Amino acid sequence: MRLSVFLLLLVSGVFIIMSVSIFFIIDDLVKNEKNTKQETISAIASDFSALLSSDLNERISDIQVLSSPNSPLLNPELTMSEKNDYLLLFKENYPSYDSLSVYDKYGTKLYDTRNLGIGNNIAESVIFTHTRDNLFYYDRTPIIVDDLEKTALSNILPIIRFSSSLITDEGEFEGLVIANYNVVSLFNNLLKMSDPSFEYALITDKNSIIVKSVNYEILDDSIISPHFTSDSVTVDDDWIIAISYLPDFQRYVDHDELLVVVKINSNVAFNKIHENQFYLQLTAATVAGLLLFIVLLAMRKLSKELLYIDSILNNITIGKTLRKKKLLFDEMRGLESEVLSTEKVLNEEKSSNQEKLDMFEQTNDIIQLVASGDLSKKLPPNNSDSEDIALLKLNINSSIEKLKKLEDDKQSFAAMITHELKTPLVPIKGFIQMLSKEKLGKLTDDQKDAVDEIHKSSEVLYNLIENILLAQRSNVKQRSLNLTTINSSKILNSAFAKLSTAMKDKNIEFKKIPHSNVSFIGDFDLLIEVFTNLIQNAIDFVPVKFGKITISCKENDNNILFSITDNGIGIPKEKQNDIFSKFYQVDSSATRKHGGSGLGLAICKDLIESMGGQIWFTSQVNRGTTFNFTLPLAN
Ligand code: ADP
Repeated sequence: MRLSVFLLLLVSGVFIIMSVSIFFIIDDLVKNEKNTKQETISAIASDFSALLSSDLNERISDIQVLSSPNSPLLNPELTMSEKNDYLLLFKENYPSYDSLSVYDKYGTKLYDTRNLGIGNNIAESVIFTHTRDNLFYYDRTPIIVDDLEKTALSNILPIIRFSSSLITDEGEFEGLVIANYNVVSLFNNLLKMSDPSFEYALITDKNSIIVKSVNYEILDDSIISPHFTSDSVTVDDDWIIAISYLPDFQRYVDHDELLVVVKINSNVAFNKIHENQFYLQLTAATVAGLLLFIVLLAMRKLSKELLYIDSILNNITIGKTLRKKKLLFDEMRGLESEVLSTEKVLNEEKSSNQEKLDMFEQTNDIIQLVASGDLSKKLPPNNSDSEDIALLKLNINSSIEKLKKLEDDKQSFAAMITHELKTPLVPIKGFIQMLSKEKLGKLTDDQKDAVDEIHKSSEVLYNLIENILLAQRSNVKQRSLNLTTINSSKILNSAFAKLSTAMKDKNIEFKKIPHSNVSFIGDFDLLIEVFTNLIQNAIDFVPVKFGKITISCKENDNNILFSITDNGIGIPKEKQNDIFSKFYQVDSSATRKHGGSGLGLAICKDLIESMGGQIWFTSQVNRGTTFNFTLPLAN
């Protein structure tokens, strides 16, 4: 919840509580005021009744004095007229008495201050019997014996009659005295001392009014009678009524029946209070309104302040967030620079690796060239080469240099040796031919055999030298090819014819199978040389008995495929890779039967590949070997 809303609610709450409290306080004040008013009324009523009561008590004392045994009224020595004078004198002294009268013991009126109704008998009346039996009595209702008396009393109502028995010293009942007491003057005297806003009345317990103030409104029995049990105050919408029984007075009578009613109209009574209440509420409302206004003003100001504080807090939060972000940013920058430096290192390593890789590739290329006999290339030095790379290059280059020197030496040696060997062989061969043809004289059989042997050996030697020459020439790419269109059967026949003699010497089964008869491109003489080499090898490795060699040709894709198959000793798997290397022989021991230089297959491979063909073999030990080579067809 927003703070301002909270504050608004709080202020509203406090305000409502305050208003309600003020309302209740005012209400309470009003109630208190009303209570006070009630109490006041109650007090007035009881005071009023007390005053009345004390006065009435005095009246009883009066009448007691008047009827006491030593009263002149009981003096037998006085005449009736003297007794009447005494009564008149008494009345003068006590003017509140309306009239006084004396009755004999039979209830007959003897004399009266007004001289009315003399001789009337009241023996049957309550006042007479009561007074005779109880000594004292008071009677609120005047005894109206005749119309005259009624007329006489009509002006002086209300009246209370007090009566007392006339008892002699001997205790003889002689009659009674009755005093008619007019309550009005006493009542009016009391009213003079009372609050004129109230209404007063002296009533009987039957709600008959004895005397009342001028403004007294007569109320229904139903309003007054419920209060006839005790002194009380009641408030209803219309009236506040206080009732008070006359207290002391009652001890002389059997029952209490006189009470004072003091009442006031509620509206009149509470008018002032309600007026005050209204002004109080008005003042409270005004003050509350003012307060609310001030609080709202203060809140407006406060809310501005709060907004300001809020913005400050926001700024602080933003500042915090920014600082956090900056921290993260710094961390990221740190990481980034780390990544960059790592990348730099990697790049450096990569470039140095690249350099090494380049170096390795160059070296590999050069080595390939060296392996294929080309020693013309060297590793080019580079300014950016690291120290060890430069050193490595230097070493490789100097090795190549040495190899080249060796190769050159070998070449010149081979050229020299072959030339030097071939040169003397020419006259040897010539003289052998002359000898075998017996141009230099007849030869014995042994001599002929020896010459034949020399002839064969010189041929072998010659071939050997030829091969060395060929290999040397192929090395230096000095060979010039004489490529022509050749018929496959024809060359197969030529090779077969050339080597048949050698087969017969060794009882080898020699076959040719021309599967196809096609034209292809090649150097005829050099191909015969290849055939010779391959077949010569086969002859050397087939078994002494049941040797078998087959040569064949067939078309294969765009090539002609020649095969030379033997059932010889075969070539072990582990040696097969080196067969085409120069000077390589499977059996290089001194005890080997197969002669040769280890150059034959290398020369064959060189020749076939230079004619655009391929050469390969398949072999199984003790089963035989097949050499295959292809050459491109003519069209
Ligand atoms: P060489 O001059 O020794 O015959 P080649 O290059 O012709 O040299 O042959 C190399 C080696 O290959 C031979 O020494 C031989 O061991 C092996 N070889 C060649 N042809 C055959 C074959 N048909 N059967 C078994 N071994 C063979």
